[in-house]
Amino acid sequence: MTDCYICGKPAHAKKMCSTHYHRYMEGKRGDELTAPTSREQKIPEDAPQKTLEDAIHQKLLKSKIEMSYEDLSNHFNVGMKTIRDAVKKLEEHGINVSIDEGISIPKDLPLEVETTRIDVTKFEGDTYQFGVTADNHLCSKYYREDVLNALYDIWERDGVTKVLQAGNMIDGEFRFNKFDLVTRPGLDAQAEFLINEWPRRKGITTEFVCGHDHEGWYVKAVGVNIVQYLQNKADAGGRDDMKFVGYMEHDYELKGKGNHSSRMRLSHAGGGSTYAISYTVQKIVESYQPNEKPTILLVGHFHKSEYSYPRAVHVIQPGCTEDQTPFMRQKRLEAMVGGYSVKFQVDPKGIVHRFNYEFHPFYDRDFYKRWKYIQGAS
Ligand SMILES: [Zn+2]
Ligand SMILES: [Zn+2]
Repeated sequence: MTDCYICGKPAHAKKMCSTHYHRYMEGKRGDELTAPTSREQKIPEDAPQKTLEDAIHQKLLKSKIEMSYEDLSNHFNVGMKTIRDAVKKLEEHGINVSIDEGISIPKDLPLEVETTRIDVTKFEGDTYQFGVTADNHLCSKYYREDVLNALYDIWERDGVTKVLQAGNMIDGEFRFNKFDLVTRPGLDAQAEFLINEWPRRKGITTEFVCGHDHEGWYVKAVGVNIVQYLQNKADAGGRDDMKFVGYMEHDYELKGKGNHSSRMRLSHAGGGSTYAISYTVQKIVESYQPNEKPTILLVGHFHKSEYSYPRAVHVIQPGCTEDQTPFMRQKRLEAMVGGYSVKFQVDPKGIVHRFNYEFHPFYDRDFYKRWKYIQGAS
């Protein structure tokens, strides 16, 4: 079998392929015989040994319309399977072939993402504002009443109406803290001290969760419902500004105008501290199932100050109002003394925006005397 002397395809008769043979039989000679047909693409002479893929590539690039496998098969005069294989190879070689109704090579890469503009005016919503504190440890001689009162003064000046307390409001009693207590033994004495000493400011209500440790030790030692017990004490003492809302944690639903809401969890963690401040809270957040994950987590226990954002949860460790105890010194645990103000908006879809947190740090007692920060000093 020989090839067509004009185009090199397999010969049909008289050393010509079927196309050229038919032209020949129609009486065409010279240029008329050898000219490419209107459907044929002239392959440049300087690239005589182009593969079929290259030829298809060139054809598709120059074609203004999409071509079908059949069009290509007719055009190159090869079988459909050969065309399919060649197109597949083109794709494998990274050519941006689009196979839809027909085959084409788009001049642009397809955009992976739609271009969108976010309407930020829809972020606007109801404003929430809280003071946040934890690990106050009243009744311990390391409790910083100067700090806790200063925090309430700041919140009062800022117009804060609700303070959230994340556990360990009192020191409780255990073997190792009995020489650190300023109160007589017993839960009664500690509750009394708490009700009398906890800062009271006009227009401010404080909501407490009780921890498993410290105030929580009484749960085990004397079988008391510590949350109810402290609430009863507060009620009896006329402290309608003190609400005990849960044991270990309490969830708040933050409603937007559209009746959708986000969840905020106030909690007291347990367990020891880790080297990295954020590690433990990160682990807590990782342990949540996606549907139980709060949007905001306020977590006490570690006496640390931190804001972090693991798994899209705004986490605040609010610091403490207790100086480093001998126990903590022994364990090389730093006490971060202070508290937080948080302010954010919840839009009508219940989404939290503009999450603002402000840390109010405090230093040791002497600092304020030395630098004349004491009230009445000039
Ligand atoms: Zn604590
Ligand atoms: Zn604790």
